[in-house]
Amino acid sequence: MHKSQRLRDLLPLLACPECQEPGGLSIETVSAQQAEEWQTVLREQARPEQQIICGSCHRAYPVTIDGIPVLWSHMLEQTFDHLEEDVNGVNPSEQDVKAANIQVYDQISDAYDSEGVHADAVTRSRLVSAFVEATNTRQGTHLDVGCGAGNVLQFFSDVLEGPKIGMDVSLSGLRAVRRKGFHAVLGDAEKLPFPNSSLGLVTASSVLHHLFLPDRLMQQAHRTLSTGGVFLTDFDPNARAAEWGWLALQLYALRRPVYHLLSLGRRRVFHGTEQVQVWNAVAEFHNKPGEGFDIGNLRSALVRAGFELHRVFPHNCHDSSVSSGSFVQPSPRHLLVQALSGRNPFHRDNSDTLLTASVKPVKVHNDEISPSGRRQVQELFAESHSGLQESSKPHQPQGGHVIRAA
Ligand SMILES: [Zn+2]
Repeated sequence: MHKSQRLRDLLPLLACPECQEPGGLSIETVSAQQAEEWQTVLREQARPEQQIICGSCHRAYPVTIDGIPVLWSHMLEQTFDHLEEDVNGVNPSEQDVKAANIQVYDQISDAYDSEGVHADAVTRSRLVSAFVEATNTRQGTHLDVGCGAGNVLQFFSDVLEGPKIGMDVSLSGLRAVRRKGFHAVLGDAEKLPFPNSSLGLVTASSVLHHLFLPDRLMQQAHRTLSTGGVFLTDFDPNARAAEWGWLALQLYALRRPVYHLLSLGRRRVFHGTEQVQVWNAVAEFHNKPGEGFDIGNLRSALVRAGFELHRVFPHNCHDSSVSSGSFVQPSPRHLLVQALSGRNPFHRDNSDTLLTASVKPVKVHNDEISPSGRRQVQELFAESHSGLQESSKPHQPQGGHVIRAA
């Protein structure tokens, strides 16, 4: 498809990320001076020829020479503008976290794609099953936030009919997405460039823990999804497994030289140079010992954002509710850390990462959650401590989900 044709198809689906007025974007020719500024900020080989103008707030956005719209938030634009500055690795700010994500994924997205991180058949089957169980709808626009090279868009290409859009902060990742035939837009996960109630599916695989305030993406997903739309998150670290024992923490202190030396498996792409290691540690903002997502808190954050929670499930054990077959194998690092912390790495409570599936419910009253949403909250408070939503035991009929205190 020709680049301008592709942009014309994509533009009606987008909105200004700052004012979010629908249908107000138009394409214009850009002045030479502005083009030069944007070329520098985006670190591009060629000057943009076109820009997108918001009809409501009159903000201008660049379009790359190959037709990728750059619908960045104010903060993301500023982050690009200050990308040469050092990232604070000790006490990173919101902007540091954004900058680290841009830097690290610009550096490694090609390797990330070819090594197929999080792209195996089991991951695909779990994610697609979670969607199919959450809704009967098979039509709608799919937005994959933090799309990398577009693996998740591919997962859903046979499942959901409609436009498929990858969004990321890395232009090199977005170019890979376009080579696969999908739409691509550069944007901020905390300020989605889409109109209200316009999307059918929002996926965010290995994204929440890269955000300074993950709740913002949940709120934005809720805003942009239409009623009945599905929000899927995957591969976010489980806080319980992140409570490392003393021995595991000793190992963590040595991780960078060890990874570097041993080039441990697929994670070596994140440990190519010392600089990439620092960026990656900041980019993995909520993925470190003592951090991660408490299952109970994650559930209530999604409900607070307005979702009905369909399911949370772990990635290290057989879970017949989503896939009767194989499960996502715990990483060697997870096995080692859990063993060193005196925990069974295969127990569901100690899972490495979590997948969530949520549905945007019909709005009942203004600012009120639906009866089933309220029920979810009540169930949360009824638990003595955070537990896992578990499937019915094998061979029992489907639909018998119970909340089990861990
Ligand atoms: Zn605007």
